[in-house]
Amino acid sequence: MATMNNTTTTTASSSLTSLSSHFRRSAKKNEINNSTKEATIFHQREETRQQHQQQRRRRRRSATTTNASAASGTKTAGEQLQLSALEQSELIDDTEDFPIDANTKFEPTIGIETHVQLQTKTKAFCGCQYSYGANANTQICPICMGHPGTYPKLSEEVVEKGVQIGVALNCKIREVSKFDRKQYFYPDLPKGYQISQFDEPLCEHGNIKVVIPVEEGGGEATIGITRAHLEEDAGKLNHVGGSGNVSTATHSLADYNRAGVALLEIVTEPDFKNGKEVSAYGQELRRIVRYLKASDGNLNEGSMRCDVNVSVKPVGRKRFGTKVEVKNMNSFNAMTRAIDYEIERQEKLYKEGRGDEIVQETRTWDDQNQRTVTMRKKEGLADYRYFPEPDLNPLVCSQAYVANVRKEMPELPNEIRDRYKALGLPNGDVQVLVEDENLVRFYDEILSANSRSSEEKEVNISKQAANWLTNDLLAFVKNEKLATPYDLKLNPEEIAEFCFLIENGEISGKIGKDILPELLLNGGSPRALVEEKGLMQISDPAEIEKIVQKVLDMNPNQLEQYRSGKTKLKGFFVGACLRESGGRANPTLTDEILMQKLEN
Ligand SMILES: [Zn+2]
Repeated sequence: MATMNNTTTTTASSSLTSLSSHFRRSAKKNEINNSTKEATIFHQREETRQQHQQQRRRRRRSATTTNASAASGTKTAGEQLQLSALEQSELIDDTEDFPIDANTKFEPTIGIETHVQLQTKTKAFCGCQYSYGANANTQICPICMGHPGTYPKLSEEVVEKGVQIGVALNCKIREVSKFDRKQYFYPDLPKGYQISQFDEPLCEHGNIKVVIPVEEGGGEATIGITRAHLEEDAGKLNHVGGSGNVSTATHSLADYNRAGVALLEIVTEPDFKNGKEVSAYGQELRRIVRYLKASDGNLNEGSMRCDVNVSVKPVGRKRFGTKVEVKNMNSFNAMTRAIDYEIERQEKLYKEGRGDEIVQETRTWDDQNQRTVTMRKKEGLADYRYFPEPDLNPLVCSQAYVANVRKEMPELPNEIRDRYKALGLPNGDVQVLVEDENLVRFYDEILSANSRSSEEKEVNISKQAANWLTNDLLAFVKNEKLATPYDLKLNPEEIAEFCFLIENGEISGKIGKDILPELLLNGGSPRALVEEKGLMQISDPAEIEKIVQKVLDMNPNQLEQYRSGKTKLKGFFVGACLRESGGRANPTLTDEILMQKLEN
C-alpha cells in the first residue's frame, strides 16, 4: 500500500511534446483482449489509419488555439471540437449590460456529465478484474499502473457495453473513433494521464426521453445527448486522520484498484429546467444501464457519478451566466435538492448585485447542511493538453457490428412502458413495474402463465395482476426484506391462478385479500385453498335469493322503514347479505335480487 504525505495537490499541465512524438513512432497494433470476433469487427485498415493520422496532425496544430479561434468563429466545421451547446454558449461574445433588479426573472441552464462504470470482466486496457471494496492495491498490474514498456489493449467487452448504452440513448455510433491522453497530475492517477476520447468520441448526437413522476408534478422531457465517450477511471485516495477530508487529514492512502476501470462519460445538452428533471434523467439512465447489464448503476459505490453544470441568467439576456459544477450527490433525491439550491443561490447573488461572486468552480453537496459548498476552482479545457493516444489505433465499429449489438440488446425501459400502456395499465403501475427489471420479468411470467392455462376461456388478467403485484405483493416483498418477487412462496403460475379466480368472478376481490396472507405464508394453489375453504363465490340466483330472504326476515323493522321511504337502508341490507354469505355472494347479483325483493 502506498502512503503519501498530504501535501496540497494541484493539477498541473505538463508538456509531453517530445515524449509523445517518441511514443507515436513506437505505436503498437491495437489488440483486443477477447480476440474471437476481432477480425470481423475491428479490422485494421491501413488507409483509414493514415488518413486519421493526417487529420490528427492538422487538429493538433490547431488545438493550441482552440479557445481563441472558436470564440472568433474561425474554426472550420471539420476542426470544430465537439462542445456541448452549454460550452459553446460560453463563447458568445456578448458584453451587453443587462439591468437586474428585485423583479428580474431568471432562467437556469443545466447540463450533466455522468460517469458510468462499465461492468466488464476486466479493466479497459488490461486483464485486471475490479470489484468494489477489495483490499487496496490488490487489483493492479504494470499496465494499469503505466509502467514503462507496457501497452494498453482495449477490451472488446468495454466497446460492446459502450455501444449498447450509446444505441439505447439513440446516439450515432462513430464508425471510427479514437483515444486521447488527458494529462494531469493527481496522486490517484498513477500514469499521470488518463486514456479518454477527446474530439472523436464513440457516441454522439443522441437523446433520451424522461418521465417526471406524477407525485412530482408529472410531465415528460426530451434531453439531448451531446456525446458519450470511453475512458479509464482513476484510483482513489483515502484521507486518514482529522475529519477524513483532504484539508484536515494527516496523510492519505492511495488505492489504485479502480485505476484503469472502464467508464463511459455521457454528456447532455443543457436541456433541463430544474432539479426534478435532472433527477428523472439520472434515474432513467440508471434503469437503462441496469437493463443492459452494462453497469450496476450504484450511486453510493460510485458506479454512476453525476456532475451537474448549473448557471442562471436573466430571461432575455443572450449571454449565459457563469457555469458552476456540482458533484458528490449520492442519491437522486439529493440531486434534486442540490440543483434547486444552486439555482436559488445564484439568482439571489444576482439580485443582491453580487453576481461577480459566482465564479467558475466545483461545488460539492453538503447533505448534512443541505447546501452546496466550494470544493475547488475549475480547471479549463486547455489545461489537460490532450493528444492522440499513441499506443492505441483508432477504434473501428462497423455498421454491421453496431447492428449486431443492437439486435442482441434486451427490451429497454421505454419500450416496456409502451407495451404496458397498450395493455391498459394505469401509469402508476407501469412506473412501479419498470423501476425493477425483476418485477417486469415476474409480471410478464404471470401473464404468460395465464395465457397458457386459460386456453379454454380467455380471461385478461393484465390489470388485475399489475394491481396485486405493485401493491400487496410488493409490499410483502419489502416488509419481509426479500431480494426479488422470485423469493415469494407463490410463483408466477400461482399468482396467475389467483388473479384468474378474481377476474373470472369465482372469488371476490375481498376474498382474495383475505386469503392472500395465508397463500404468501404457505404458497400452494390458490384454487385448491379456495375450494378447501369453500370460498367460491355464490353466483347461483336461487341460492342468493335464499340468503336475501333470510336477511329480510331477520330484519323486519329495517324493512318496514325502508318501504316507508328510508331508502338509505339499502346499504345496510347489502352488507348484511354479504356477511350472511361469508363474503361469497356475487355482489352484482346480490344487488339485483335484493332490489327486486325490497321493492315488492
Ligand atoms: Zn491492470
